[in-house]
Amino acid sequence: MNRHFLALSVAGFIALVLFPVALHNPYYVHLVETIMIYAIVLFGLDIVVGYTGQVSLGHAGLFGIGAYTAGVLVLKLGAPLWITLPSAVAVTAVFGAVLALPALRVTGPYLAMVTLAFGTIIQILINEMSFLTEGPLGIKIAKPALFGTQLGERGFYWVVCVMLALSLIMVHRVSRSHLGRAFEALRGSPVASDCMGVSVYRYKVYAFVISAGLAGLAGALYAYSEQYISPNTYNFELTVLFLLAVIMGGRKTRSGAMLGATIVVLLPKLLDDIVLFRWVAVVMAVAVTVGALVGMRRGKVSLKTAAIPVVGTIALALISFRLQTMTDWRLSIFGVITLFVVYYLQDGIVGFVRGALNLSTAQADDAKIPSGDVSSGVPDGLSTVRGQAEDLLLARGVLMQFGGLKALNNVDLRVKRGTIHGLIGPNGSGKSTMMNVLTGIYTPTNGSIVFGDVSLVGRTASDIALSGVARTFQNVQLFGEMTALQNVMVGLHHTFSSNLLHVALHLPKYLRESRAASARAFALLRFVGLEALAGEEAQNLPYGKQRLLEIARALALDPQLLLLDEPAAGLTAPDIKELISIIRKIREHGVTLILIEHHMDVVMGLCDTVSVLDFGQKIAEGKPAEVQADPKVVEAYLGGEAVALVA
Ligand code: ADP
Ligand code: MG
Repeated sequence: MNRHFLALSVAGFIALVLFPVALHNPYYVHLVETIMIYAIVLFGLDIVVGYTGQVSLGHAGLFGIGAYTAGVLVLKLGAPLWITLPSAVAVTAVFGAVLALPALRVTGPYLAMVTLAFGTIIQILINEMSFLTEGPLGIKIAKPALFGTQLGERGFYWVVCVMLALSLIMVHRVSRSHLGRAFEALRGSPVASDCMGVSVYRYKVYAFVISAGLAGLAGALYAYSEQYISPNTYNFELTVLFLLAVIMGGRKTRSGAMLGATIVVLLPKLLDDIVLFRWVAVVMAVAVTVGALVGMRRGKVSLKTAAIPVVGTIALALISFRLQTMTDWRLSIFGVITLFVVYYLQDGIVGFVRGALNLSTAQADDAKIPSGDVSSGVPDGLSTVRGQAEDLLLARGVLMQFGGLKALNNVDLRVKRGTIHGLIGPNGSGKSTMMNVLTGIYTPTNGSIVFGDVSLVGRTASDIALSGVARTFQNVQLFGEMTALQNVMVGLHHTFSSNLLHVALHLPKYLRESRAASARAFALLRFVGLEALAGEEAQNLPYGKQRLLEIARALALDPQLLLLDEPAAGLTAPDIKELISIIRKIREHGVTLILIEHHMDVVMGLCDTVSVLDFGQKIAEGKPAEVQADPKVVEAYLGGEAVALVA
């Protein structure tokens, strides 16, 4: 499959390159050139929208910065192409970082507004800074020269072809690397990303910077392509068009970006030409009807879901024959088509086709499931920690206040290295809060936490994770759209030191790291008995397996301390047995564990020490049997859970 796809891509690229040779009409050459330039923007925008799941309404502004960087350099300095293109990328990347800074705190609609404001400000600045940009007059730019020869329409077309190919390869490689996984992870679960040592903030900024660099490159190419730039090109409409193109084409695919670019460039033209439009409407109606019938026969689509798109497209085709001209209807039809795609094809057109062809929607990845024997060198992916029986974790007087509520009230916790420390208590007693405080999700209102010999208070979650504290979550926090193997690979992010350049050029250092990480990830999956499900999307795994996968991912951090928050919750009896043996195996590797659990048999069978919380206070501590017999503990559990405790 992969080889076919590569062959298809190469054939497509050759067709693109030969296009102006076969067809001399400069109008069409320019049209395809524009599509390619938009595609470069969309590759980048998709990193932000498709992978990290952020919204950017600032990409027209970034595109404009690229165009004007090239324009001004040509106008003021007569700079050649090999200066203007890299400068446009660099300048725009810096602006991308500036744009990303507010992303530190805001998400969703607020981020959309910040980016929108950014785009607007850029447009105003371009307009007002006449001394640099010639203001509303705009800048005229001739086609550039390359290696001493002046490029014509065709020559420049090929420059764009080459840039498209380079961008595609770069983005493709990034998306399959640890960087791409980091971007996707922070969309899947920001809190889990941070707790896997993948700083959400850092990778948001990183994604914006890469994305902006591509928008800058495309902007510079656009300036040469149009040979004239003026401020009002880079407006809100263009930004929406970019976003629509990503959504329509389908996120997380390069083919989706190309398709989206084609649609947004061609659709307005198409809507100008009634004859062409009729043809397309008929083809669309036939395609949707056939697709729906096939889907229904395979039992993948119900009559109800198929009805509206089928009726809709047929109606559109019929209407197209009744219309005499398109002028009055263009905008409405454009809007209807857009709504239709966004509503019915949430994974875009490419996602829809993949679904219909039964292809996996999980992102391809450099993490390969190893074939043959991989046991050499990495027995179970887990390195053994050795140490004396000293305190690994010492928390003193921890206070966690939410408004008036003291979720933790003056709690001391001492965890000895190499032990399993149970943390029990009724619901709402503060167990998960304790875990969140220990892993940096919350900063305690008061108190000290020392891990090894460093303080954890005030450090970020990703920093704490990297210093050797891993965790799972009471509500499973997997990266749902990623495979089991990729989930574990995110945990192994810390084993990579390759940067963008290593990844884009596939330098040996990156390939070595990638191979080692794949092997280790696979070994970790085997450790928890999930090797057969390595290629399965996490969201499709049964609940019990998801919990085990979370443990494997946490182990990938090579933790000294592993915190498990109710790992047995919702598990079947055989799954619990498996879980117990896995926890034992983890301890044998010298990993210290804190175990929050309601199942008393699990706690009693595994723990060396148990601490009991009630209303945010520690009410008992000791060996499991002592704690179980403690009247205060029985009292705290009185009610539904008393039975479980005594049983
Ligand atoms: P459990 O022992 O069941 O894990 P938790 O630690 O989740 O208990 O919760 C302890 C108390 O703290 C509960 O009353 C809960 O409502 C409260 N709490 C936890 N997190 C927050 C928060 N982010 N904001 C406000 N209250 C919280
Ligand atoms: Mg809890």
